[in-house]
Amino acid sequence: MAAPTTYLSQLVALFGHPVAENPTQYMQERAFESLGLIWRYITMDVQKDQLADAVTGLRAMGFAGANCTIPHKIAVIPLLDHLTPTAAKIGAVNTIVRQTDGSLLGENTDGKGFIQAVTEYGMDLKGVRALILGSGGAARAVSVELGVAGAARIDIANRTASKAEDLAAHVARETGVESSTVVWGRDIPIPLGTQLLVNCTSIALAPNVDDVVPVDYSSIRSGLLVCDVIPNPPDTPFLKRARAAGATTLDGLGMLVHQGAIAFKLWTGHEAPTHVMRAALEEVFAQG
Ligand code: NDP
Repeated sequence: MAAPTTYLSQLVALFGHPVAENPTQYMQERAFESLGLIWRYITMDVQKDQLADAVTGLRAMGFAGANCTIPHKIAVIPLLDHLTPTAAKIGAVNTIVRQTDGSLLGENTDGKGFIQAVTEYGMDLKGVRALILGSGGAARAVSVELGVAGAARIDIANRTASKAEDLAAHVARETGVESSTVVWGRDIPIPLGTQLLVNCTSIALAPNVDDVVPVDYSSIRSGLLVCDVIPNPPDTPFLKRARAAGATTLDGLGMLVHQGAIAFKLWTGHEAPTHVMRAALEEVFAQG
């Protein structure tokens, strides 16, 4: 084997806490490798009160970028130099990209990854009526991007009602799309005319894999597209029950691949090998 011509790798970091079980490093490094890029993706457990120092370190060591996950997606914003318009609208950042002048740009690829997965599936989002379950970071990214993509109406249901009200007001203000709340309960009603139903809560995230999203499954009509953001395990009880009630379904793996693929292109300038990334995640999740 020939000696390398440079020992300098391009570096990307993941900042989160806890983060040890996050599979993104494996997915991104498989993608770098498949394109022959000398890039490394390093998972770093960063405590809340160390985030500012971690971002300073990122700048000092010339990292090409980073991902941020829980609990840093909002806290990182004042530490960056610029935000993309959608990251500003969403109010959270999951991807940092170093610009040619060394400044750090914050982007949010979570909602874009969702839009890409649904569009690839074949749904035209223009004029769609959606019901979003949840009001955390994922719900915020998905609902704002749906508004930007031309949805006609976005309803929000969340266990903590005040957060659903805040998100509905936020979506209406930031995207101009009509948005109101649906009451969370044991049988959340799916409003008549809903074409897209998305679980953006953490229900059924491992290890609670048998937990069921409490919607009124009898109100599911064929033609409804039901999506889950939970990637592991991807075929959640929510999706299984929705399919049994006549809906078509889309799991959270596509969103995870596409949000990573968008970040990959922002960092490297190359189209991401999405098939390699998906295979890497399937391999990780098959191990349980
Ligand atoms: P947050 O902690 O910001 O929000 C969690 C949401 O889930 C809140 O709305 C919370 O409701 C709700 N929730 C949690 N547990 C329950 C429960 N037992 N019953 C009812 N509601 C519940 O997390 P995120 O929004 O960042 O992430 C949510 C999920 O999305 C995670 O599982 C994450 O893995 C997944 N995700 C997937 C991505 C992908 O690419 N596939 C990308 C990003 C996230 P309340 O407000 O009442 O607490």
